[in-house]
Amino acid sequence: MKNTLDIVPLKSWLDTGDKPLIIAGPCSAETEDQLVSTAHLLANTGKVNVLRAGIWKPRTRPGEFEGIGSIGLEWLKRAKAETGLLTATEVATAKHVEEALAAGVDILWIGARSTANPFTVQEIADALVGVDIPVLIKNPVNPDLSLWLGALERVNRAGIKKLGAIHRGFSSYEKSAFRNEPMWDLAIQLKSLCPELPIINDPSHICGNRELLPYISQKAMDMDLQGLIIESHIDPSVAWTDAKQQVTPAALSDLIDHLNLRKAESNNPAFEDKLAELRSSIDKLDDLIIQKIGERMKIAEKIGEYKRDNNVTILQVNRWDEIIQKRTQLAEALTLSNDFAVKFLELVHNESIRKQNAIMNAQPTAEA
Ligand code: PEP
Ligand code: MN
Repeated sequence: MKNTLDIVPLKSWLDTGDKPLIIAGPCSAETEDQLVSTAHLLANTGKVNVLRAGIWKPRTRPGEFEGIGSIGLEWLKRAKAETGLLTATEVATAKHVEEALAAGVDILWIGARSTANPFTVQEIADALVGVDIPVLIKNPVNPDLSLWLGALERVNRAGIKKLGAIHRGFSSYEKSAFRNEPMWDLAIQLKSLCPELPIINDPSHICGNRELLPYISQKAMDMDLQGLIIESHIDPSVAWTDAKQQVTPAALSDLIDHLNLRKAESNNPAFEDKLAELRSSIDKLDDLIIQKIGERMKIAEKIGEYKRDNNVTILQVNRWDEIIQKRTQLAEALTLSNDFAVKFLELVHNESIRKQNAIMNAQPTAEA
């Protein structure tokens, strides 16, 4: 995958110094008082940069609260005027974009369900042509990096250069402690593909509960993500949407105080020397691992020739069972997880099979 994004750095449109960008506010704007009072409490913490509030809510089932609609934009305006906080809301149609822009919302975001639909993203992108506003794009509900990148590209091609991504986790069929599986590797892949793209973590929608928020927030900081978007409500127990995952502004402030902000780089030469030495040992081992896998493949190829000449099937299940059993025992003794050992062996084994398959099914070359 290639990075074709042409964006400006986060610092040029929202400078938070050496602190992470913090976006906080209720899942939904419910009443004028709920939104404005929450905004005041958040602003008073001195730790929040942007007030979030859903005005139009994408709900899984009809009949649930679908957002207060346009009137909420007036409340956002008042909250901004009284607190000085920047404001952000979700847009899912061209009409939402027009209304949010007319109401002076500072930052727009595209929700996970919209990101999953290129038609929707394109409609939003078209409505943004000629506008200079920051846009944050949540990952799609399904774990598909190209779909996420594709949405960022569509909006970028419409001329939006103040662009960011929001990592809110991915829905999964398997039961887990999280509402949406974080699948950190996808956020990391996006980060390595577009190093200049700010990625903001959304622990609220990953966790689905208050208890796990500090853990995911810290992990996001440890992954060097640029900020957090956290749902905060003046009284979460009576919230109309996502009640279980919202926190009071006081709890949010406490969560932020407990974050351990590590630096991506250090300016201690002794530390840098030690790190370079350890990294060089890792590089040597990685080289050796690749070399040894290469040697293993050569032997697998020889076995392939042998099997071909004796007309034996490629896969011999007993042999594979034996490999898995013995090697996972060794892995366990070395404190490697069983899951990792099995996945690693499967990858290596698949590559051996691919090579043997090529040998056994090669077209005979015509005799000269
Ligand atoms: C939200 O931010 O309230 C929301 C609906 O999130 P998502 O699009 O991540 O589900
Ligand atoms: Mn929500």
